[in-house]
This record gives sequence, C-alpha cells and structure tokens, in this order.
Amino acid sequence: MSVRVVIIGGGPAGNQAATHAARLGGEVTLVEREIVGGAAHLWDCIPSKTMIATGGARSFAARAHAMGLFPREAEVDGVALVQRVAEIEERINRSITELLTSQGVRIIKGTGRLKGPREVVVETETGVEELAADTIVLSTGSRPRIPDWCEPDGERVLTTRQAYPPPEFPEHLVVIGSGVTGVEFVHMFSSFGAEVTLVVSRQQVLPLKDAEVAGALEDDFIRRGVALLKGARAVGIDRTAEGVAVRCDDGRVARGSHALLCIGSVPNSEGLSLEAAGVEVDDAGYVPVNQHCQSNVAHIYAAGDLSGKLPLSSVAAMQGRKIAEHVMGLHTREHRHLDYEKAASAIFTEPEIADVGLAEADAFALGRKIRVTKMPFAASAKALINSDPRGFVKILSDPATGVVLGGSIVGRHAAELISVIALAVTCNLKVTDIVDSLLVHPTLSEALADAAE
Ligand SMILES: Cc1cc2nc3c(=O)[nH]c(=O)nc-3n(C[C@H](O)[C@H](O)[C@H](O)COP(=O)(O)OP(=O)(O)OC[C@H]3O[C@@H](n4cnc5c(N)ncnc54)[C@H](O)[C@@H]3O)c2cc1C
Repeated sequence: MSVRVVIIGGGPAGNQAATHAARLGGEVTLVEREIVGGAAHLWDCIPSKTMIATGGARSFAARAHAMGLFPREAEVDGVALVQRVAEIEERINRSITELLTSQGVRIIKGTGRLKGPREVVVETETGVEELAADTIVLSTGSRPRIPDWCEPDGERVLTTRQAYPPPEFPEHLVVIGSGVTGVEFVHMFSSFGAEVTLVVSRQQVLPLKDAEVAGALEDDFIRRGVALLKGARAVGIDRTAEGVAVRCDDGRVARGSHALLCIGSVPNSEGLSLEAAGVEVDDAGYVPVNQHCQSNVAHIYAAGDLSGKLPLSSVAAMQGRKIAEHVMGLHTREHRHLDYEKAASAIFTEPEIADVGLAEADAFALGRKIRVTKMPFAASAKALINSDPRGFVKILSDPATGVVLGGSIVGRHAAELISVIALAVTCNLKVTDIVDSLLVHPTLSEALADAAE
C-alpha cells in the first residue's frame, strides 16, 4: 500500500514535497487555501523581483548614454506593471498546477488543520472534508510582522503585501527596516523615481551581512539620494495631511507620503490545531524540526518558513524535496542532509548582492584562519563592456587545503554568478578547481576565476 501524504500549504516547501513524494510513489494530497506557489509567488519573490526588473530596466535606460545611446528617462506605466506581475504569477501558477496534477497529486482548495495525529480536516467552499494520513507535512509559511505600535491601513501605511504596487505610487516612501526585504523595497521604489528614506535601527544597513558588502550598497543608496536614518528605531506612525510621520525612539521624525513596514515575519502556525496531534511550537510560534524536518511527532514534518530555519524560497523547496525522500524511504547513502550553512542567498538591489557559506566576520569571530582573495569588477572586460564596473568578487578559502569555504559577490548578475561558489562550497571544491575551469571570454564569471587565484 502506498504512503498517504497530506500536505497543508502549497508554497515552495509544500509543492516540492508534493511533486517529489508523488514521483516516488506516494499518494499525495495538497491542501492550499490560496494558490499553489504560495505566498512566495503571490506576495513575495515573484512580484517583488518582477517590479525590481522593471525598475532595473528604467535605471539602465537612464545610464544608456554611457553605451552610446541617447539618454532617455523611461516613464513607469503602473497599469502595465501590475498586469505584467499578474501575468507572470498566472503562468507560474498554471505550470506548477500542471506539474502537480501530472504527477497525480490531488489538490484541494481549502483551509487545513489537524484533527488528530493522522487526520487532517479541510474546510472548502462547499463543505468539510476529512483526510486520513500516514505522513503530514506542515508548510503554511509566514506573513508580515505587524508591530503593536502601528496599524497598516493599506493606503499610506503599508505592509509588503500592500506594495504591489501601493494604491498610488509614493512620492516619498519611508521604509522601516533595513534587512533584505527593506533594502530591496528601497531599491525598487527609488528606481521608479520615488524619494526614499530608510529607517535603519543599527549603524549599518543589512546588519547581518559582511560590512564591506553592506557598505557598497549604502554608497549606492547615498549616490541615488536615499536618506539613511541610522541608529533609529521606529516607535510610531502618525497620519498627517501630507501623508505619514514615522516617529523614532531618539526623537527624530521621518516624514513622507507613505510608510512601508519591512520588519520581518511571523509563522502561520495558529489555526492549525497542532495541539490535536501534540506538535510543539517554540515561543515565536515556529515548529522546531530535526535534520529531516521532522517535528517532535515523527510522522509530522514542518518545512519552509514555518520551520523557523532560513526564510528563503530556495531553502523551503529543498526542505520539501528532502522530506519527500525521507518519507518515501529514499534515505540512502546518496542522500545529503540539508546544510543551511551552505545556502546561497541574494539581495536584488543595485548593485546586486549574493553570498554563500562562511562570512569573513564569522571566521574572525571563530578565530578560524582563512585566505581571502578579491577581484573588483572594474578589472573585468565584460563589466566595462556592460558599462557597470561596480562591485567585486570575494572568495574565502582554507589556507591549508585550498577548499572554498564561502564567498560574496557585489555587482551585476551576482545572484546568478554566486552559483559557481555555491557549488564549490557544497562539493568541497578547491580554489584551483575554479581557477582551472575554462570559462567563456568575455564574461563576468572570469572575475570568479581571477578572485580564486
Ligand atoms: C517581500 C519578500 C520577498 C521575498 N523574496 C524572496 C526571494 O527573492 N528569494 C527567496 O528565496 N525568498 C524570498 N522571500 C522569502 C520567501 O517568500 C519565503 O521564504 C517562502 O515563501 C517560504 O515558502 P513556504 O513554502 O514556507 O511558504 P509560503 O510561500 O508562505 O506558502 C505557504 C502557503 O500555505 C498556505 N496556507 C497557510 N495556512 C494554510 C492552511 N491552514 N490551509 C491551507 N493552506 C494554508 C498559504 O496560502 C500559502 O500559499 C521573500 C519574502 C518576502 C516577504
């Protein structure tokens, strides 16, 4: 008899778990209340990156004179932009649905919760359905955190989910929070021509990132006229005749037409009746998991943002895959545990930022000896051809063995280029493996080989 797998939540974690478990012979039911693809496709990765791509095209047009073209200030067509986001979402949603159904996954549109350790109840538009399961995967994701000192109104005070685009394009946006999401929105709206103020609670944007990398982004923000309010923690937002006034704990006030909250997320764990199966949550509401993504109840797994690990779509999807392998008994010698320390991540700003593996600051904190080598894109022929020589490639390796431990890239296509270093980190390749690769000329990837020397 095949394993009955019931998955609640069809984001990257849920839909990858579903496709792979079905491919491996499971009888899979996926319960999703909105769209398969999840918040990642409806609210987060896809709409934000689609809008950033349009902003990028606009700033490229503004710089085009450097490449022998007439300067042109491209106007943003808000209606066409919203339509483009919707079309891309719809195409991706369609292809995921087709993939799931082609693998025999049953998709139920509804809201799921646990009824017992091996039972799931789904409320649909037409009634209630009960599903028996051998294995349950919880992948209900997260939503924007709303602090108790402000109430988003969807007009002037927005969460990230109300910003695609906001009801009207902001003349002056005050972004609260300078983590990855915050800086991406700063970049997005400043590339559309809005004035932007960023409230930075510490002394550096991207406080968890390499200082040199964060510094490169700060320089670019300042060059673009973004106002950085450093060392300021927002404590309240007032609506004013002109828009909003964001009050900070040191008495400073950031005024603008709109405010956008980018202060993290909270897990969607309430409403799942986890207590019905004895599944534990931590103080913040996440479901703690072991290396196989099992909760404290062995046949109930949690994946994606709900598991409280790295809140990335790519990590969620890989967790879903690994769960399917574990559930379906494919836990063979080839199976590699997910190593969160080796997850590549990117920030889609201008310049783009990407990193993977060990960071320089962490190596120093651990007292670990490392070799750091660096190459600026200013020395790359392709970067000059592209008329965009900003940024650098930095590679960290073990001085004794030459094994690549990590790296950062700042510059055009950093999110794509980091995959070479990610592969090296995952497979314990050496810097000489990168140096000896015969790469295409002229390309930005040559800077990787140069940095590895
Ligand atoms: C603005 C923004 C931009 C981002 N950009 C990126 C990016 O570029 N790259 C990247 O890797 N990550 C990005 N992320 C992070 C990424 O979106 C999340 O890590 C990812 O969505 C997590 O996937 P998930 O499968 O856990 O959940 P989600 O994508 O949140 O999906 C969960 C699904 O569960 C459904 N659900 C919830 N409760 C129930 C229930 N009871 N019954 C049925 N269905 C339910 C929801 O409707 C939803 O569809 C971004 C995040 C934000 C906020």
